[in-house]
Amino acid sequence: MKTLRSYVLGEWHEADSGFVTLVDPSTEEPVARASSRGIDFAAVLDHARGPGCDGLRSLTFAQRGALLKEMSRVLKDRRDELFEISRINSGTTAADASFDIDGAGGALAWYANFSRTLGDRGILAEGEASALSKDGSFQAGHVLVPRPGAAVLINAFNFPAWGFAEKAACALLAGMPVIVKPATATAMLAERFIEIIIGAKLLPEGALQMVCGSTGDLLDRLGAHDVLAFTGSAATARTLRDSPSLAHANTRFNVEADSLNAAVLAPSASDATFDLFIRDVVREITQKTGQKCTAVRRIFVPPDRLGAVQDALAARLAAVVTGNPAEPSVTMGPLATRGQLEDALDGLRALGGVARRVHGTGVRADGRGSPAGKGFFVEPVLFRADDPRAAGPVHEREVFGPAATLMRYDGTAANAAQFVGLGGGMLVTSVYGDDTAWTRDYVVHGAAHAGRLYIGSAEAAGSAPGSGAVFPHTQHGGPGRAGGGAELGGLVGLRLYLQRVAIQAAPPMLAAAHGDANG
Ligand code: NAP
Repeated sequence: MKTLRSYVLGEWHEADSGFVTLVDPSTEEPVARASSRGIDFAAVLDHARGPGCDGLRSLTFAQRGALLKEMSRVLKDRRDELFEISRINSGTTAADASFDIDGAGGALAWYANFSRTLGDRGILAEGEASALSKDGSFQAGHVLVPRPGAAVLINAFNFPAWGFAEKAACALLAGMPVIVKPATATAMLAERFIEIIIGAKLLPEGALQMVCGSTGDLLDRLGAHDVLAFTGSAATARTLRDSPSLAHANTRFNVEADSLNAAVLAPSASDATFDLFIRDVVREITQKTGQKCTAVRRIFVPPDRLGAVQDALAARLAAVVTGNPAEPSVTMGPLATRGQLEDALDGLRALGGVARRVHGTGVRADGRGSPAGKGFFVEPVLFRADDPRAAGPVHEREVFGPAATLMRYDGTAANAAQFVGLGGGMLVTSVYGDDTAWTRDYVVHGAAHAGRLYIGSAEAAGSAPGSGAVFPHTQHGGPGRAGGGAELGGLVGLRLYLQRVAIQAAPPMLAAAHGDANG
């Protein structure tokens, strides 16, 4: 069994005790163990804040972007090996591994290209200067500079590769050194990712450190200039938010958490749009075995389409082959851990208390290609709830598995928005229809419930990627339960790691500051 190591203080650290065992979720065989015991977290922070900050700050945005491009390239060269680790440690099919691993490379490469728009400068000027005195002899402007601290990136188990890359791309490009902490259960892929990047000797000393296992007292040591970027459950986010040390130092804290995303079929949907809706929803229920923060959990349909939607979804879900991804015919793998399986089964029971199960068993299944009784498998489940207002857990409980609930609304955008809003803040809502007036109405009433609105229509049927795909071009994050954070989205994602400073000065001095900023 492999012992995972942390990369801290410029070397690989192997613990000698305190291990957590990682297993292959298809067979339950142990594959690795992880522990961070023995790491001096005060020294880790000093290493980031000292050489890490200095090394990155001495580079321009364009130079940092070139590093991201190289990171993407070296990872691409090891794609097959990374896919195999993902299968063994996360139970992913090749398509699901691609979503995570190629998505990671894509995020790094996109930000590498984006860096060219920021140019050969180390500071960004923001907006135009304005006069503070009548004669214009005293003026004001703003600049964005890298925060002089460490960016601690805590990731969820479901995206060990992309979760690292999407955060690290923004932090490194902004000029902040990162300390990444992957979720322990799936840290095998993250560890290899970092090992490849470190082995390529691309980054300045201290710019990238990784902790495999617990964060020890690291978070208690974060200060005013550090950033904590967290992805995980709303429950963990709450624990961290309540941490007195983070509050005391007012450490900048970004949260990406749970989300009860909704898909809405508008009455106007043409046949092509209806097909797109069914295709997208099935993908969102089953991709990564439903272990996606952006997965569709709630489906709203006008009364006259309920039967057709239920039949079409059930027929597609029936074709899903659940099992060990080592077996070529398998199209959906297991859940990642025993804990995730138990939590999902518990959630399915909760949904079953308020909704009718119309497809799937809702209990653990044996997976194709795995020994009987072994593996964390559950087949796709579709529920139907006739009154969304009486379906509390459907809007409150994120079942992190291949399950969704079909519900009716009266066909108006206002009513759809009202029911979508019961989810308490989401990452993404998807609406499918061909009537632009209805869609505009939805934007007015319901867009604000999620950080992203995906609109499917006949024109997009051949090219729309599905609502669950997160692109670096657009903001990722949402209000309320989803955490209230904002990542990616070009400059939006960088702002977390940059400090805005107002500069007030006479024009020559301001020009000098802006000259620095622009030169
Ligand atoms: P989790 O249990 O909250 O864990 C998330 C991360 O936090 C892990 O790395 C975990 O480390 C760490 N952690 C837990 N307690 C901690 C503490 N007291 N101090 C420091 N770190 C701590 O979530 P998960 O089960 O991995 O992920 C599933 C959840 O993430 C779902 O709810 C999903 O919706 C959400 N998610 C959201 C997004 C998004 O972008 N909004 C993306 C992906 C997933 P250990 O593994 O070592 O415990």
